[in-house]
Amino acid sequence: MKPEDAYAELRRFQIETAYYQSLGALASWDQRTYIPRKGHEHRARQFAALAQLLHRRRTSPRIGEWLDALEGASFLSDETAPEAVNVREWRRAYERSRRVPEELAVALAQAQSEGESAWEELRRLDDWKGFKPYLERLVALTREYAEAVGYETEAYDALLEDYEPGERAARLQEMFAVLGRDSQRLLEAVMGSPFQPPEGVLNRDYPLDAQVRVVREIVGRIGYDLEAGRIDPTTHPFELSVGPGDVRITTRYYPDYLGAALFGGIHEAGHAMYEQGLPAEHWGTPMGEAAGMGVHESQSRLWENAVGRSLGFWEHFYPLLQGSFDSLSGVSLASFHRAVNAVRPSLIRVEADELTYNLHIQVRFELELALFRGQLEVADLPEAWNAKYREYLGIEPKNYKDGVMQDVHWAAGLFGYFPTYTLGNVYAAELYRAASNALGDLEGRFARGQFAPLLNWLRENIHAHGRRYLPRRLIEQVTGREPSAKTLTAYLKEKFGNLYRI
Ligand code: ZN
Repeated sequence: MKPEDAYAELRRFQIETAYYQSLGALASWDQRTYIPRKGHEHRARQFAALAQLLHRRRTSPRIGEWLDALEGASFLSDETAPEAVNVREWRRAYERSRRVPEELAVALAQAQSEGESAWEELRRLDDWKGFKPYLERLVALTREYAEAVGYETEAYDALLEDYEPGERAARLQEMFAVLGRDSQRLLEAVMGSPFQPPEGVLNRDYPLDAQVRVVREIVGRIGYDLEAGRIDPTTHPFELSVGPGDVRITTRYYPDYLGAALFGGIHEAGHAMYEQGLPAEHWGTPMGEAAGMGVHESQSRLWENAVGRSLGFWEHFYPLLQGSFDSLSGVSLASFHRAVNAVRPSLIRVEADELTYNLHIQVRFELELALFRGQLEVADLPEAWNAKYREYLGIEPKNYKDGVMQDVHWAAGLFGYFPTYTLGNVYAAELYRAASNALGDLEGRFARGQFAPLLNWLRENIHAHGRRYLPRRLIEQVTGREPSAKTLTAYLKEKFGNLYRI
């Protein structure tokens, strides 16, 4: 077979797989939004059947034959050309999938789906005892999975590879240690400052219908194409891409707290704008996919924090807010800006401020790492969780649901995912700095309602590349240097130094 023909057939096959996968994505959106309570069991079986189908396709010997025919093909010699990128990634995925026995792939998919559904119920009941067996099974199956796909140094690296290609546990451990120390030091200074933000500004009466309107308006104006997406309410906000022209987000609304809907909405819109900016002509191939979860999170955190919590942003949008909520009638722009940047150690990750957020992630990362290094048992997780919260944030939960059971990730078997949140913050700081250097005064533009220059810069420098480069290399390509947590620390020091006058 001629290499050109092999490529065309392989591409056709992979795109067909992507269509099946995107139907699964749609079912997953439904599972997390409007599914009736009694529908979960059937949905879990649907996912298991789909997982089996996808596994068979991903491990089909035909892929191996096409890849063999492509070995050494001259049109793949430029390693950054779309064809070469696709073949590289298809080969990597094929070799990984082939190492996972089908029964394991199916068992894992089912345990993940069941774990997530059980967690919904058990978390509400604060039932750790009921949840523990699900988690134990997930950890055991995930260990098997790591052994099956293989790794050079340690099992956790094999898990990272699914979320952040090329990343390593040892390097992350070092990054968290340094960033954690710097964050704790800055947190102490912030808490000791006499210039504290006004209390309770976001915890007033905020009618839900007005919140829905305002969030829609803001995410639309910063560049989320609502004709190619939709926003729905959910308990645990997420972004989900069905395909070109259909990239959905969710956020959560509380009648007495504005922050969740507002910043959750902007965050998910940041994810969605990345998906909407991926090259549609490459859909279904690696060139049309996000570079990794860390880069994905960098887009959401950049829009949520660097943009959405800046003074320039609110110079533009605060009139819309004041016109929509009576609760803000006596609150000045400066007070509001300080309120949305209030720092306070808290128990809940998704509500954490920009400074303490990475400490929440550090807790989870270190616990996961200990689990997969065999230094911690699932049964001992709650105690270890509480100890780390005491150490890093000076507080600890009084129950399980605000502690070890608060996130869906472990319930869904997503081990290795958490550190990508902090990588996202690290990358976001690097990108925001580079964009500021390239575009000049960004906040001045936000104040005039100009968000397109930043979005276009991201489109060109990040979105258009798909999976062309490994995450760290992609950032380096844009900024001209190896991404470092020091840039994030410098950004946080400057921002909170000004706000708290320290
Ligand atoms: Zn996110």
